[in-house]
Amino acid sequence: MTPDPHRYDLDALRARLLDERGGKVDDSIPTLAGADPGLCAIALVTPDGTARLSADADVAFSIQSAAKPFLFALALLDTEGEALDRVGIEPTGESFDAIKLESGTGRPPNPMVNAGALLTASLVRGSDTAARDARIAEGLAAFAGHDLAVDEDVAHNEHLLGDRNHALAHLMRAEGTMQVSADDAVAVYARACATLVDVETLAVMGATLACGGVNPRTGVRVIPARVARDVVSVMATCGVYDGSGRWMRAVGVPAKSSVSGAIVLAAPGRMGAAVVSPPLDAQGTSVRGRLASEALSDDLHLHSFAAG
Ligand code: GLU
Repeated sequence: MTPDPHRYDLDALRARLLDERGGKVDDSIPTLAGADPGLCAIALVTPDGTARLSADADVAFSIQSAAKPFLFALALLDTEGEALDRVGIEPTGESFDAIKLESGTGRPPNPMVNAGALLTASLVRGSDTAARDARIAEGLAAFAGHDLAVDEDVAHNEHLLGDRNHALAHLMRAEGTMQVSADDAVAVYARACATLVDVETLAVMGATLACGGVNPRTGVRVIPARVARDVVSVMATCGVYDGSGRWMRAVGVPAKSSVSGAIVLAAPGRMGAAVVSPPLDAQGTSVRGRLASEALSDDLHLHSFAAG
């Protein structure tokens, strides 16, 4: 019998995870470096829109790369699928900010690494930086079911200090694959990464993908089912950077990791989930987040490739 997620003891899981002290908090910008290494929160949201939450589920953090699946979705929506010609969908086996484009085409390798997300953020509707910022804010809010604030310090510092992102944007300009200015691309992407969420909100966003593009809280169709399927497929192959293969074997649920220690998961037809805990492993995945995801997958029978 399939276990009932609403009876799952997330606080018992959280208590076990707090004993794990491995990993290192990201120090690329002051706000992330100052994150509490003891933070650990888990949320599950099922297709009826109800949530199961652990302690700390209301602590806010910047979404960082967990925004990438949603930026890809918005780019697909706003370009009517043309985004699929502009960005690859192959896993790289390399780190999230590798300075590398697809050979031959000069496209970013996939939308889950920084090069790809800089590009997808540039493809959302809007004639200038402010219009694209507004469109992304509106789109992320639709996935979440409510408006989301932005941490202005994080947006500012990532724009200012994101040298590798500036390098990637310039490289795409040089290849002719990035149409907006490099500075515009980095500003819009940095602001999207600085969007504030908590695990409940992020789990609703994951659940919207898991429910074929319909937000289970608001009932609003945010993206067509086909776009949701495309996004979740690419999360499955590329969402955990150079740890994507290990992730699929051990967890088996499409997911996106991020430098703030957040992970968003989308188990199609079953649930959305989110975990946050800042200490990261060598691939930039939350150490406790990975352990939590493995436990959820095992205990709630979420692995995509398990026969029963
Ligand atoms: N904003 C971060 C960056 O561009 C996101 C990276 C991540 O979350 O993995 O470096």
